[in-house]
Amino acid sequence: VGDSADFDKEVESICPFCGVGCQISLKIKDNKVKFVEGINGPANEGRLCVKGRFGFDYIHHDHRLTKPLIRRDDAPAKGLNVDPANWGDVFREATWDEALDFAAGGLKGRGREVAGFGSAKCTNEEAYLFQKMIRQGFGHNNVDHCTRLCHASSVAALMENVGSAAVTATFNEIENADVAIVIGANPIENHPVAATYFKQFAKRGGKLIVMDPRGQALKRFASHMLQFRPGADVSMLNAIMHTIVEEKLYDQQYIEAYTENWEAEKAHLKDFTPEKMSEICGIEPEVLRDVARTFAGAKAGMIFWGMGVSQHIHGTDNSRCLISLALMTGQVGRPGAGLHPLRGQNNVQGASDAGLIPMFLPDYQSVTDDGVRSAFNDVWGSGDFSNEKGLTVTEIMDAVHTDDIKAMYILGENPAMSDPDVDHARAALAKLDHLVVQDIFITETANYADVILPASAFAEKSGTVTNTNRQVQMGRPAVSPPGEAREDWWIEVELAKRLGLGWTYTHPSEVFAEMKLNMKSLSNITWDRLEGENAVTYPSLSPTDPGQPIVFGDGFPRQDGRAKFTPASVIAPDDTPDDEYPMILTTGRQLEHWHTGSMTRRATVLDAVEPEANCSLHPSTLRKLGVEPGGMIRLTTQRGSVVIMARMDRAVAPDMVFLPFAYVEAAANILTNSAIDPYGKIPEFKFSAVRVEAAHEP
Ligand code: SF4
Repeated sequence: VGDSADFDKEVESICPFCGVGCQISLKIKDNKVKFVEGINGPANEGRLCVKGRFGFDYIHHDHRLTKPLIRRDDAPAKGLNVDPANWGDVFREATWDEALDFAAGGLKGRGREVAGFGSAKCTNEEAYLFQKMIRQGFGHNNVDHCTRLCHASSVAALMENVGSAAVTATFNEIENADVAIVIGANPIENHPVAATYFKQFAKRGGKLIVMDPRGQALKRFASHMLQFRPGADVSMLNAIMHTIVEEKLYDQQYIEAYTENWEAEKAHLKDFTPEKMSEICGIEPEVLRDVARTFAGAKAGMIFWGMGVSQHIHGTDNSRCLISLALMTGQVGRPGAGLHPLRGQNNVQGASDAGLIPMFLPDYQSVTDDGVRSAFNDVWGSGDFSNEKGLTVTEIMDAVHTDDIKAMYILGENPAMSDPDVDHARAALAKLDHLVVQDIFITETANYADVILPASAFAEKSGTVTNTNRQVQMGRPAVSPPGEAREDWWIEVELAKRLGLGWTYTHPSEVFAEMKLNMKSLSNITWDRLEGENAVTYPSLSPTDPGQPIVFGDGFPRQDGRAKFTPASVIAPDDTPDDEYPMILTTGRQLEHWHTGSMTRRATVLDAVEPEANCSLHPSTLRKLGVEPGGMIRLTTQRGSVVIMARMDRAVAPDMVFLPFAYVEAAANILTNSAIDPYGKIPEFKFSAVRVEAAHEP
């Protein structure tokens, strides 16, 4: 941290890491970010975590791409074989014109053979342009992004039962609650600034009910800690709801006024007694009853959830249960009440809102609706595109293997690290005829590229992003991109011109203005307002309304204004332990590292704190293996094997291993299962059967 003498300008922007969306002030000297301070944004009120405060210097890293690159004719076969500091035997430098012509030439005219992955790290305008390019340029909806890997099942359940994919209340509303459930989330590590509000809530007497198969630091603040068996969410939640029905603790008036299908839900819950479900979820019946009474008795209660809920083949069912729990207790649409899936990446909410999804156009308008497509075609001035839902992230990789997809445009995503059963994804990337990658580093995915387009980091560009709270916020350029790297929206426009789409945008504000034409969520939110106010929460009811932190107090955006109960049954995980693979592997993030590590492992402070690939096991498990903390172990699933350093962690159950997914040298997704939830199409990252053995260092 410095003082004003240490910098020559300061620029307000948004932290590029998690969905909390903390506002920051970047202190700049000599075109470099010298340090960062938190400012008074609606989500952070000046607070920052270690990533936001110290994780910014990756933007000045030597590995930054500074020129377009084209794969050499004599390059070795495609594989994970490129040194990001010394890539000359695989790629050659090219001019922008040559690289863009080459990129577009390999995509143009290929229709359904093309698929695109956009990015939740880019701005709303860049996400909008990306989905528009795939739809307008290739005539179909094969466009997706990492929401498929984090909250797609939550979105599916929310759309189905509430009629809206965003949170019903901001996380800051917890200050008006008296009870809050946090399930399948580890906010102190993954949404650290949101966690500060949760801790304050508990300290002033709020009842915090934490539910997770893994222990966590929030446990110290919890009135109840339910460390349930992995994969047993539905049995536990149904038992809690069974008690609410059995003891008539539900809110009959609310149910009658605002919901449908209650009788079916009530009948379905009959068999889920706490005694029976306790055998599956491992939580004592009396604890389940106490939680039911505590939540149902709340004056105002909130439910927060993370990827521990969503990343299962029954992820949509898990979210359906949480929605039903809130509806039967009338805990939606009031101060301190609501449903809040904690969104992961900084702009995963905005990228989803902007239509970077194969089944939805912007604002979750269905691609199957002729009227909707026609409204977009009117604005875009182009012919119709397909009314079929497109392929999702994992389906696209499968389609490469079956030769249905032969070319891809990947902007800012890293499926060579992030996809489940990642060797399958890497083989697909290697098989493509033509792969265009747009990024700031030679990521693992860029290893497989035919052409790499050097893009901009957050501090080098203009654009809006939307956080987990539905707050649309303004990001501003503070430094210029290195070398010939360019803003992502500029690259997209230049590529679209070469695809014959005739785009003429000269600034992201023009894109934002176009988005507003078919996105009611952006009503009353203008570029100029965001420049002046930094953030506006949607929906905003007037040009001066800062936005509504709580929605659905007077009904839901569904038929008849009613939310729906959808009963959920117990479904076992796909890859269950057996004699060969007797333990359970679960994956997730660590405080210091972000997703596939491409940014945070190049941030000096963060990498110094967490420099080495590691996994966590219970002390008794390590003792059985004869491995000391810090020793090496081998993890093997049906998909593959990694050798990694073991840490001792009492928070991990004795039959489990926790493996962070940021480390390429022991990539977690070599091990994970690609089985998907049938509704949200999200893979089951949170549960794989695994064998654990002592290993010597490789
Ligand atoms: Fe950035 Fe999230 Fe940390 Fe805030 S909580 S500083 S948005 S990583």
